[in-house]
Amino acid sequence: MVKSKLLEIIIHEEKCTGCRICQLICSSIYKNKYSPTDAFIQIFDAYELIPKISFLDGCTHCGQCVNYCLYGALELKEGEE
Ligand code: SF4
Ligand code: SF4
Repeated sequence: MVKSKLLEIIIHEEKCTGCRICQLICSSIYKNKYSPTDAFIQIFDAYELIPKISFLDGCTHCGQCVNYCLYGALELKEGEE
């Protein structure tokens, strides 16, 4: 049986600075605007010591937010379906 590869995003909330770069890149790609609230990745309590990160249903797992996170809070892993 051939298993398909699935990109999985691992979250390291303790490394998140709340900079919202991930949201800006996601919204610019998918909504053609720089708007954190329009991104498929959401950052809550951005100014707390450890922000909370979650992904909305429309997330394609494209990995662009991972590529642009400068702080290692997001990590891309290949999973299997
Ligand atoms: S996940 Fe990364 S890019 Fe997004 S707010 Fe946190 S530190 Fe910034
Ligand atoms: S993986 Fe892609 S679609 Fe999902 S939140 Fe990140 S940039 Fe947006």
